Amino acid sequence: MNRHAWLAALALPGCAALVEDDWQGRATHPALPPYHLVVSDADMENACGAHPWAYVFGCALRLPAEHVCLIYTRPKAAAWILAHEQRHCDGWDHAAERAR
Ligand SMILES: [Zn+2]
Repeated sequence: MNRHAWLAALALPGCAALVEDDWQGRATHPALPPYHLVVSDADMENACGAHPWAYVFGCALRLPAEHVCLIYTRPKAAAWILAHEQRHCDGWDHAAERAR
């Protein structure tokens, strides 16, 4: 995998389609300052990608080059969703994501 592809992979949205508790044992990316963006249900697909097999509550988009981590949620997101995406911004991935 070349460096460009690696950066593109880093920018893949984290997922919050399920209540996931399969975090890796430690943060594997540098923490980035979060910036929370609320998007409508209709815009969720644009913000987080189409996931026809799952209901997406939100996503976190790490942008190391811009030194920011965008958190997208629907309006009135529950606290656990924000906490989940915040953890992605803090550099954590899911154990399953590492296997890819
Ligand atoms: Zn996640």
